[in-house]
Amino acid sequence: MNLSGRCLCGQVTIELTEVHPQVTACHCSMCQKFHGGPFLALAACSRDQITFTGESLIQRYNSSNWAQRGLCRQCGSSLFYYAQETAEFFFATGLFQELTEAVFTEEIYTKDQPLFYHFAERTRRWPELPSS
Ligand SMILES: [Zn+2]
Ligand SMILES: [Zn+2]
Repeated sequence: MNLSGRCLCGQVTIELTEVHPQVTACHCSMCQKFHGGPFLALAACSRDQITFTGESLIQRYNSSNWAQRGLCRQCGSSLFYYAQETAEFFFATGLFQELTEAVFTEEIYTKDQPLFYHFAERTRRWPELPSS
């Protein structure tokens, strides 16, 4: 699917081409803090699928030795998780409007999920990362 997204202030826009429609929720403690709740993430995107405007406003935070988190300097919107080793971006679904084709299929780090909510969709749930 091709998608257009933007941060809250609109200074950062994101165009994506040919994104796989699978959506994953990550319940890990870092995602909970960065996104203020579970991270509903699009499938991995490589740099050549992405067109940013306002890229100079994107602040990257090194949240671990293997990943960065991207946010808008202007409005604070949480934008993406970036995996350094594979150079893949995982964007937050909330930035995008036309997600009619998206399917929510996986939940990861369910061992860290707070007890007060559960999603109703039938998903594959992994205590940590999917075993491959
Ligand atoms: Zn913004
Ligand atoms: Zn996470």
